[in-house]
Amino acid sequence: MYKEVDLLVKPQYVYDYENGYPLIENSSISNFDKMPKEGTVINLFEKNKKFIAKGYHGIQNKGQGWVLSYKRNEKINKDFFASKIQASIEYRADFYKGKDTNAFRVLNGEGDGVGGLTIDYFDGYYLLTWYSLGIYEFRNEIIEALKDSVEYKGLYQKRRFDAKGQYLDSNNDFLCGEEAPTPIIVKENGAHFAVHLDDGPMVGVFLDQREVRKTIRDTYAKGKTVLNTFSYTGAFSVFSALGGSKKTTSVDLAKRSLPKTQEQFSVNNINLDVQEIIVADIFDYFKTAIKTKKSFDMVVLDPPSFARSKKRTFSAAKDYTSLLEDAIKVTNKNGIIVASTNCSKFGIMMFRDFISKAFKNSNQKYKLEKTFFLPKDFRVKDEYQENSYLKVVFIRVM
Ligand code: SAH
Repeated sequence: MYKEVDLLVKPQYVYDYENGYPLIENSSISNFDKMPKEGTVINLFEKNKKFIAKGYHGIQNKGQGWVLSYKRNEKINKDFFASKIQASIEYRADFYKGKDTNAFRVLNGEGDGVGGLTIDYFDGYYLLTWYSLGIYEFRNEIIEALKDSVEYKGLYQKRRFDAKGQYLDSNNDFLCGEEAPTPIIVKENGAHFAVHLDDGPMVGVFLDQREVRKTIRDTYAKGKTVLNTFSYTGAFSVFSALGGSKKTTSVDLAKRSLPKTQEQFSVNNINLDVQEIIVADIFDYFKTAIKTKKSFDMVVLDPPSFARSKKRTFSAAKDYTSLLEDAIKVTNKNGIIVASTNCSKFGIMMFRDFISKAFKNSNQKYKLEKTFFLPKDFRVKDEYQENSYLKVVFIRVM
């Protein structure tokens, strides 16, 4: 049932909402106790009954819902979602036309006007990820809108909204159309990735690192020994090998990373003999490597924002400097450290501070060569830069 409720924005937040701030938060609503069940349409008002914006209620770790429209009479229905999806597609026209890449993000949450939802494209298959029960309540309208807007082979979904904001386990993430081969082989700048659409929360590749991978392959890898830490399915190792690296070493704690990394190498016809894949805690690996004086020409650091293993917890906001100090110890002179973080708790300035501190503590000089943020398809709203989480810096160890 389509329901609407009127809520009152506290005076000090009116300006933000009038100027495009998209996140509906508990603290900015004065009659928050009237907040109805998830999926209800919310009209935000000023005290004098002046309409500000329309959104929906959906609980995410970040807030209580998202603004969708500034039109008083907008109906949040299939046509509404179709117009958002079509605008998103238009914005990514180049991606659809591209010959070398057929895996990209089609709709990036509030960056494309629909907070709580992302849609990714994998060679004709679409993957919808729902980040709240609230947006999931609109699934029929959204799925119909998508079907009307694109030609597709098949649709898949991930529901990421159990009590802890985690993936809702499902044996079947397939929605309709044709089932995808397992895996689908997609292309990225001419390289290949095996993508599994129906095998747990993650599909095998993080699309937001596309430009970083290309830079590693085209500019940095040739003839180099590469250590890829927190390697997951080894995407950075694959691009290093394709760029002519001498040897790659991929280290990840998860047992599944071994067969998954082998799979990504083999779909790219890369000889596995000179690629080392190690299942280990990277902090143990660093310890041994430092003791045995192992070193590399390029070290890629791409830790999760937060990770807990048996022995320790890692928090990017607290521990990135010390992670870098370990990396510096195993990087050859004139080598490169690719330092990446997807932590939204700090921005590029603080990330540069971590780097500067780590090199100071290590008594080493360095030069920043390149910096990357989210690519175009991971669109971020100017008024909500909080979602511009990715920061990647190429650092030359002098
Ligand atoms: N760099 C990868 C993505 C990393 S995802 C890519 O480009 O595709 C984060 C990975 O860190 C996960 O695969 C997780 O298993 C791994 N991880 C978490 N804690 C770890 C630890 N202490 N040591 C090694 N790997 C760890």
